[in-house]
Parts: sequence; C-alpha cells; structure tokens
Amino acid sequence: MQNYRISLNDLPPEGKEFTLDEAAIWQEPMEEFRLDFRVSKPLCARILVLPMDGGWLVRGTLEGEVVLPCSRCAEDSVAAIAARFEDFESMPGMSDDEAENDDIVAAGEMEDSTDGRIVFERNSPMLDLAAICWEELMLALPVTPLCRNDCKGLCAGCGVNLNEGMCACTEEEGDPRMAALRGLTLHKN
Ligand SMILES: [Zn+2]
Ligand SMILES: [Zn+2]
Repeated sequence: MQNYRISLNDLPPEGKEFTLDEAAIWQEPMEEFRLDFRVSKPLCARILVLPMDGGWLVRGTLEGEVVLPCSRCAEDSVAAIAARFEDFESMPGMSDDEAENDDIVAAGEMEDSTDGRIVFERNSPMLDLAAICWEELMLALPVTPLCRNDCKGLCAGCGVNLNEGMCACTEEEGDPRMAALRGLTLHKN
C-alpha cells in the first residue's frame, strides 16, 4: 500500500484536500484484525487538512457500502456508509516545558503513542490519512447490523434461521399464551 502520511508543516495556509480511494487502505486492516466484513461498493474518503493555531482541522467525508454479518442471524447485512467527520489534531509535545527536549519527546511519541494520528519523521509532524480512513469507517459501522428490521434471528434451541421458517422446538413448546388458554378450558370442564 502507498504511504498516506502527509507532512503537516508543508501544508499551504489555506489547507489541502486529499481524496483516498485505494481499496488497500481498508482491506489491509480488515485482514489484519480478521474482521468479518467486506466492501460491496468502493469506499472513498475526502479529507481536508487545514492548519490552525496549535494544530490542524481535519474535516471530511467517507462514502461507500459494506456487508457485515447480521447481529441476530449472521446472514449478510448491507450497511451504506455516508459519514461526515471533523476533528482537531493538536500539535503534540509542544508545551513550553517540553520544547527544549523536543527530540526526546518526538522519539518517545513514535514508540508508544496510542492515539497516533500524528507521528514524527525526522522531527517533522506527519498525519496518517490511512489511519483516519480506517477509524472513520469503524465509527460509521452500525453497532447492531441487521439483515432486515424484523429479522427473527436464530432459534436458541436448535440454531435454525427463523427467517426461513419455524423449527421443531418452536412447535413443541407452543405459544405460552395458548397454553394458558388451554389450562382455562380444562378448569371449566
Ligand atoms: Zn438477520
Ligand atoms: Zn429450534
């Protein structure tokens, strides 16, 4: 995959817009994290990075479509992706105390930064646009994907997909409300 790190210090004052649509941006982390979904309409991100006081505004859109397993029955569930996002990335390690030891701070952040959207290469702050694309996709995914709104899910007893018909255990148990009615009838007699 191409390197999508951009040098933040080299941006023009009016900012710059980037278009990212290479499938590998999302495909590689999907495989890395062994996520059970696939892209059904190509994903495309447009990201504007605008220099501001103390950091950068990162604003963009992400569009496309992915197929995930339904959270009830595990069949395909199609999720249209149409996300808008806006974040502020502040310049790391630039407080007065740290400014003198800038090299050390930068090296440390490269090692163990967990919110690592900004990394340093030769003391120059770089923003990883591919990481942003991945994060924004994760945020845009439905929390409980459904193949359809009224998905009946799988039978807890035998695992049959109840969208495709009733299973034997449902018939045996019967409807508890019907059982109550049957009981009433017995008492009357
Ligand atoms: Zn389902
Ligand atoms: Zn069953």
